[in-house]
Amino acid sequence: MLRIPCPHCGVRDEFEFRYRGDASVRRPAADAGIDAFHAYVYERTNPAGWHLEWWQHVSGCRRLLKVARHTLSHEIHAVGLPDDEIVLPEASA
Ligand SMILES: [Zn+2]
Repeated sequence: MLRIPCPHCGVRDEFEFRYRGDASVRRPAADAGIDAFHAYVYERTNPAGWHLEWWQHVSGCRRLLKVARHTLSHEIHAVGLPDDEIVLPEASA
C-alpha cells in the first residue's frame, strides 16, 4: 500500500487518492497539428523507474497533486502542487 504525504492533509493511505494520469506530458500548442495531439492523448511510456504522476486526494482535500513515484519499488520521492517543479532522482532502478 502506498502512503502518500499530502501537502495539505499529511500522510494518508493510497485508498484516499485516485490516480489521474501521467504528469510528464505537456499539452501541445493549439497549432501543433493532429500528430502532436494524437501523441498527447494516446501515447504513453511505461517506465520501469521514476515517474511523475497526477494523484487526486478524493477523500481528503480533493486537491490535485504531482507525485514522483518509483514504479517498481513504489517509493515516493516528492509530492507537490500542480505548478511545482519536481526533479526526478537519477535512474537507479
Ligand atoms: Zn489532501
